[in-house]
Amino acid sequence: MALRIIIGLALTVIALAIAGRRLWWLYRLGRTGQPAPERIEAVRQHPARDAEAEVTEVLGQRKLLQWTVPGIAHFVTFWGFIILILTLIESYGDLFSRSFAIPGIGHWAWIGFIEDLFGVAVMAGIITFAVIRWRHDPKREGRNSRFAGSHTGAAWLVLVLIFLVVATLLVYRGAQIDTGVFPYAHDAFASQIVGHWLHPLGVGADKAVETTFVLAQLAVILGFLVLVTYSKHLHIFAAPVNVLFSRRPNGLGGLQPMRSGGKVLDFEEADPDTDIFGRGKIEDFTWKGMLDMATCTECGRCQSQCPAWATGKPLSPKMVILDLRDHAFAKAPYLLAGSDEERDQLPEAVKKEADRPLVGDAAAGGVIDPDVLWSCTNCGACVEECPVDIEHIDHITDMRRHQVLIESSFPPEASGMLKNLENKGDPWGMGGAKRLEWTEGLDFEVPVVDGPIGDDVEYLFWVGCAGALEDRAKKTTRAVAGLLHTAGVNFAILGPAETCTGDPARRMGNEFVFSMLAQQNVETLNEAGARKIVASCPHCFNTISNEYPQLGGNYEVIHHTQLLARLVADGKLTPVTPIDEKITYHDPCFLGRHNRVFTAPREIMENVPGVQAQEMHRCKERGFCCGAGGARMWMEERIGKRINEERIEEALATNPDTVSTACPFCLVMLGDAIGVKQSSGEAADSLEVVDVAQLLARSVQPPAPAVAAAGPGPSGTSGPDAPDRPDGPAAPASPGPS
Ligand code: SF4
Ligand code: SF4
Repeated sequence: MALRIIIGLALTVIALAIAGRRLWWLYRLGRTGQPAPERIEAVRQHPARDAEAEVTEVLGQRKLLQWTVPGIAHFVTFWGFIILILTLIESYGDLFSRSFAIPGIGHWAWIGFIEDLFGVAVMAGIITFAVIRWRHDPKREGRNSRFAGSHTGAAWLVLVLIFLVVATLLVYRGAQIDTGVFPYAHDAFASQIVGHWLHPLGVGADKAVETTFVLAQLAVILGFLVLVTYSKHLHIFAAPVNVLFSRRPNGLGGLQPMRSGGKVLDFEEADPDTDIFGRGKIEDFTWKGMLDMATCTECGRCQSQCPAWATGKPLSPKMVILDLRDHAFAKAPYLLAGSDEERDQLPEAVKKEADRPLVGDAAAGGVIDPDVLWSCTNCGACVEECPVDIEHIDHITDMRRHQVLIESSFPPEASGMLKNLENKGDPWGMGGAKRLEWTEGLDFEVPVVDGPIGDDVEYLFWVGCAGALEDRAKKTTRAVAGLLHTAGVNFAILGPAETCTGDPARRMGNEFVFSMLAQQNVETLNEAGARKIVASCPHCFNTISNEYPQLGGNYEVIHHTQLLARLVADGKLTPVTPIDEKITYHDPCFLGRHNRVFTAPREIMENVPGVQAQEMHRCKERGFCCGAGGARMWMEERIGKRINEERIEEALATNPDTVSTACPFCLVMLGDAIGVKQSSGEAADSLEVVDVAQLLARSVQPPAPAVAAAGPGPSGTSGPDAPDRPDGPAAPASPGPS
């Protein structure tokens, strides 16, 4: 007895010392990161919300269960380990007394049943994981495997250890049954089966088996504990903390302002020599950023959904996090050194690691290659998928900020866009005077705000640069305006006083230009007394609703599809003309995933008679990007397949007559891809991409008389959409409210 106590306790002390040392090291490393007081403050202000996140995401495994099979396997493994804490207590108790039972509950038969049930469930879970890992082995699937780039050897070792935890448990419990010291009389069904197998050995041998396997079980658990602190399984401890301090509701939507030393950077006072501009080295990340790195489970769910990775680009959101983590760990001795003398004495390999540029060509030692950094479309698929709430977009943006603001290093083709934003207030450099051209030819007047907005104006219509200046997007703008007019909604526009919201500049990393534009717009909107805004561009919608509050701009913002769906539901717009087409809807990332507007556009389509809606393979939360977000619209796509072509191939798989969307950028990107497919004969010449507002506008018009259908109506005298649709039905001069 004394020997097994000594061995058991010695193993425990050694394992706790190794694991504790490692955890202390990790804690100290995290403390080298920048402060993030806003995260602590958010938890302090919203404890109920964060408690709910812990319950749903950690205990309920909500995000994991979105992938049914691996989700269930993880769920039972997670809960199995929680339940098996009871057996760990029993194992330690057994060291001291072979008849040990947990005080109070240790003889309840159902406890023995639950322990065995979860032991078996964990076994089933790890067998499932093993099959998944075997089927999706990167050696077989190459970069298509979500495990490509993960540390698969450590993952297999962990599976073996978990198997041994349960196996040793069942063997020692089975031996206990045979030696008559098992605390549970019945119902521990799996232990009883093992006991039955061991029974022929006799009591004497079973006593030895019991002792050996109790110690073996403790050794395996303690070995597992040590491995956890040195591997991706650190997420067992880190994930609940990371979820607690994550951005709510989901790390998507607006970007965070630039912070230095925990404070929002004020560009008028900021000093590049003393303040931190984005992330130029690993220690510029906040402790929360470092926690993200330590928490990654290497599951590859983010990678599997990333449009950049799917189209052959070097960006994998998983590898961004892993590369940052590997670099942080390798540079840790340098970061943790107490003085320059200590740093001088570090091994050359550590000094070399410390000298690596955070962003730089991989061949030249860069941790993150520029092609990785600039491939991101900010689509949010990675953040959406990540089961431990890692915030990839924030990290990518912060690294872009440093590259743009300090290094002046970014894809050169985007410089024209940034200059145009600074000088003319729109990405194309067309200037404010052109912002009213889309209203020409409309058969109703569009009021332009000049001074405070009158009480009779319900909505300020935020047209957006593309909506005002880009020919294809102008059709949507005209359709939205026409529908609002038809429904009797009083609205006004800013016209030349509107400038770009700053979204492309901010997503590029040019926070300076974003601030300039955003402050100007907030000033304009506040002076005009804007309260309710309807935006037709999801990027504008996202920026005004989620980012302008950071600058004192607080408005009720709605996307045009939400307003139009409501007008249809209220009977203020009545689609009457059938559109007998098969239509597939493409979810814009900044409307859908970033802002959870999935239903409104679909409701509009459902209400248009004749429309046969057909979902694409990837839709709603799993929608696939068009390739334009993250300022990618203004960068060349030189590597891999074009994202818009990949997306249009998915659309073509539904054999559509029309592709619909709700974003001017998606409209352009998908339109371009359709053009390519039409040239190669892969798409019908009649295939087009339209905004759902255009569809609704076509249907709200009464059916055209047969004679009028022979040709387009006179320009400027038709309904909301007809002037832009030569093949559309001619409409009466002015459609009144339906
Ligand atoms: S935001 Fe989209 S493109 Fe960027 S890393 Fe995540 S999944 Fe990939
Ligand atoms: S970042 Fe999240 S989704 Fe991606 S591999 Fe890590 S844990 Fe999985």
